[in-house]
Amino acid sequence: MRMTNLAEFLENSAQQFPDRTAIVFGDTRLSYPQVNGAANQVANLLVSRGIKPGDKVALSCPNLPYFTIVYYGILKAGATVVPLNVLLKGREVAYHLGDSDAKAYFAFQGTPDLPIGAEAHDGFQAADGCEHFFVITADPTAPSPIEGTETFGQALAGQAPTFDTVAVDDDDTAVILYTSGTTGQPKGAELRHRNMRDNALAGTDLFGADAANPDTYLCVLPLFHSFGQTVIQNGGFAFGGTVVMLPRFEAAPALGLMLKEKVTFFAGVPTMYWGLLGALDDSVDVKTIADNLRVAVAGGAALPVEVHHQFEERFGVTILEGYGLSETSPVASFSRLGEPVRVGSIGTPIPGVEMKLIDPDGWDEVTDPDGIGEIAIKGHNIMKGYYKRPDATAEAINDEGWFRSGDLGKKDADGWYYIVDRSKDMIIRGGYNVYPREIEEVLLTHPAVSLAAVIGVPHESHGEEIKAFVILKPGVEATADEIVAWGKEQMAAYKYPRVVEIVEGLPMTATGKILKRELS
Ligand code: AMP
Repeated sequence: MRMTNLAEFLENSAQQFPDRTAIVFGDTRLSYPQVNGAANQVANLLVSRGIKPGDKVALSCPNLPYFTIVYYGILKAGATVVPLNVLLKGREVAYHLGDSDAKAYFAFQGTPDLPIGAEAHDGFQAADGCEHFFVITADPTAPSPIEGTETFGQALAGQAPTFDTVAVDDDDTAVILYTSGTTGQPKGAELRHRNMRDNALAGTDLFGADAANPDTYLCVLPLFHSFGQTVIQNGGFAFGGTVVMLPRFEAAPALGLMLKEKVTFFAGVPTMYWGLLGALDDSVDVKTIADNLRVAVAGGAALPVEVHHQFEERFGVTILEGYGLSETSPVASFSRLGEPVRVGSIGTPIPGVEMKLIDPDGWDEVTDPDGIGEIAIKGHNIMKGYYKRPDATAEAINDEGWFRSGDLGKKDADGWYYIVDRSKDMIIRGGYNVYPREIEEVLLTHPAVSLAAVIGVPHESHGEEIKAFVILKPGVEATADEIVAWGKEQMAAYKYPRVVEIVEGLPMTATGKILKRELS
């Protein structure tokens, strides 16, 4: 399939599959032509307000059909989409709008059921240069809850459902994705139309996607993040699939939708798999859900070995684990469908992408076959750069096109990669390098431990001490001291956590990754 504008995924499917359902949300089922027509209205609206090709348009919206409609509408107008995390506070919204030079902003305004976006308008008002604000309301016919603003529904009224998509260059920026913010100041990764397209189309090879036998995707990964956007939305639309949306992940409703909509494709971060397993009780028809499920993929954070095994046991489907970053559109490596997986591995580079291990202090390749190094990636998936940050771009991408990930990894004799940890998360205790992920994996084998997060805390003589936050399994008792003592038996003296804190929950990003920087 040859195309330049990413929006052609939607247009081509609307032409080829006019009777197929593109999006399911609650009782609403939207066909491909309906979604395409609404996206055309958005494009007409933007043009009528003076938005030009190359302008930036921000969008914050949970997983609702509006996200997809506005996303493709912006692209059709030749503009760049700047998806924003729906949980941002007003100050952060202002930063993102200003940093990305957004000219217009579509923002979902929450309902009591979905209290999201309350500070979007404050952020818009505090930002310089953003001229247009459209409120996305759950009911498009409702008046705007914010005085003096226009709703998306009002703005679209009278806009024609046809539009000639603006031709773009393959190298034009389709999307600016602000990186997850688990580290440092958010930077906008500029992804070209071809970066996003090729990554979505990789689904043919990786997941056996077939437009003649389309998948039904459960969309619980937030669409503003690269994983959901590429693998579910763009990948699903490229192959004429049906995307079943859930605005926020909750395990029981997710299982209910998997059953009701006969979901064949599930993608999630590890905490979602953990959530699904925790919600399985006698009332859940796991057998039917499992019979429908063709592909289960995980990425975004390390998939604990225990979770992998349990899921395979309960659902009879192995999890394909992949790896990538916002900067790599995002997929860089994956385990392959139909081939035995190596549990704990992120697989091998996807077609057209190369990976290698480099010295974290330079660009030299690590040659020791058992060596740990920083993962570097090269190929069609690498971003153009960080928006307006040539220095950060030059630090991240070298002259030969290699991108350094900040993740430490190792490789086995067959070229399968394993993430050791994020280099920034590595703990140095008394001169020893300690990888939190390794300790978390061990803690998860304790009979009472359901989830664990390990960090380094300052220590007078050791530099850092190892601390574990632990959530217990429901109905199982254990004390912090018992877990410390148990850890001491399992792990070398320099590794086991001397401090264990039992907690009810852990801070998470909207994507479901544990926010370690908020732990201390
Ligand atoms: P983001 O830009 O939000 O997609 O975050 C990218 C980061 O997620 C990477 O740099 C890794 O630290 C982490 N990550 C992604 N996939 C995996 C994986 N399979 N295992 C471990 N960490 C992962």
